[in-house]
Amino acid sequence: MASEGQKVVLITGCSSGIGLRIAVMLAKDEKKRYHVIATMRDLKRKDKLVQAAGDTYGKMLTLQTLDVCSDESVKQCISSIKDRRVDVLINNAGIGLVGPVESISMDEMKKVFETNFFGVVRMIKEVMPDMKKRRGGHILVISSVMGLQGVVFNDVYSASKFAMEGFCESLAVQLLKFNVTMSMIEPGPVHTEFEAKMVEDVSKKEYPGADPDTVHYFKNVYLPSSIDIFEALGQTPDHIAGCTKKVIE
Ligand code: NDP
Repeated sequence: MASEGQKVVLITGCSSGIGLRIAVMLAKDEKKRYHVIATMRDLKRKDKLVQAAGDTYGKMLTLQTLDVCSDESVKQCISSIKDRRVDVLINNAGIGLVGPVESISMDEMKKVFETNFFGVVRMIKEVMPDMKKRRGGHILVISSVMGLQGVVFNDVYSASKFAMEGFCESLAVQLLKFNVTMSMIEPGPVHTEFEAKMVEDVSKKEYPGADPDTVHYFKNVYLPSSIDIFEALGQTPDHIAGCTKKVIE
């Protein structure tokens, strides 16, 4: 439980990758002394996080189950927090999807929106009223470069991040007068399980029309392919965690 004056930071998707590193970096910040609530949908995946958190586990960092796709799970998680107090909400949980639209089922597409867009909406809806009442808080979202620019064969993933950015930008203005800050981090490729799966997916499939000269130009806008994106210099989860830490300080 957080002690008096400690900032409560809740992070989604902490079983691996960026979320895990943000949780550990914040828990180990001796100056700020955050109380980190690291959440994941399946606590069976907690070992990597617990190991990385070391001594801070159980003190500066506690664990909660949270599936951002479930209304009930989100409500339960926030209700279990003392006074429902979340000072900083970090929306990190997300999934990718690569391939030509015609080969992807509607269910797969809906799952991406359910996680990357509605997952964020669900979290914000649950913490926002309390932040407004307390007149303070910070909501941060891990978006993507693909939330700024479409990328070939990432149509649905990209759209989910665009949608989320539109939602957050609109909300940011409304929240200003309640002293609630909204921030966005838009990483390029980061070396995580997510990236590994994306690289595997793009390289194992040969998509028709993937010839760079024919598909990359649309109305004179250069649309990079996933391969271009993932061949670019990748960042580490620690780099993104460091950026996140700076933004919320
Ligand atoms: P990982 O796959 O390593 O981590 C994703 C995390 O999200 C996992 O902990 C996963 O949990 C969790 N998650 C997925 N679905 C849900 C759900 N329904 N409820 C709760 N948690 C869920 O990927 P990254 O660390 O790379 O991705 C983190 C964020 O960064 C994502 O939003 C992604 O879009 C974004 N990003 C990543 C980039 C990259 O190149 N890696 C580039 C730009 C943005 P579980 O273990 O249960 O699957």
